[in-house]
Amino acid sequence: METIRRVDTPHGPITYRLARKKIRRLNLRVGLDGQVRLSVPWRVPAEEADGFVREKSGWIAAHLAPPQPRQTLPPPVEEEECRRCLEEAVDRVYPLVAGAGVARPAVKLRAMTSLWGSCHRGKGYITLNTALARCPRELRDYVALHELVHFLHPNHGPGFYAAMDARMPDWKGRRRALQAYGRLLLADSQPPQPGQPPEGGEA
Ligand SMILES: [Zn+2]
Repeated sequence: METIRRVDTPHGPITYRLARKKIRRLNLRVGLDGQVRLSVPWRVPAEEADGFVREKSGWIAAHLAPPQPRQTLPPPVEEEECRRCLEEAVDRVYPLVAGAGVARPAVKLRAMTSLWGSCHRGKGYITLNTALARCPRELRDYVALHELVHFLHPNHGPGFYAAMDARMPDWKGRRRALQAYGRLLLADSQPPQPGQPPEGGEA
């Protein structure tokens, strides 16, 4: 038997599903669906169940709270500032490929909607998404290095990833963080973006 109850707690009212079962202990769960369920032994009165939920309300509230956004998006920057911060990103990571014979490429900036960057190997330049100027420095560095490594490995083969691993061992974490920024940029009204967040530095 399951009943739905609502109890006032120091963390606000909590609605929960109370089930009586052939069990010995109270069993409180917060499902991934956000439903709070409490199973109690047959003889436990509803008031005692309510009291238990009240007592555990801090724990319940913590489980029900939406995850806090970890990043906030700074406002778009002026063209000059964008140029400066992306050139600096390339300068920071360029030493990682210079020894392999890569010439310091020219950097073109573009407001792109589906790519973080691209490498124009034959023409000696890379293109970086202007939206990177709104992302943290370590993510700009990751995209810049991704494009520089394409001068060594044009495709995303094992050699490409080995070269990334050797130069930036935490690049996968940076790529994940960048994807989160892609979603933030999408949610932001400017610049206009179509349905897909920019991908992780694919060329
Ligand atoms: Zn790529």
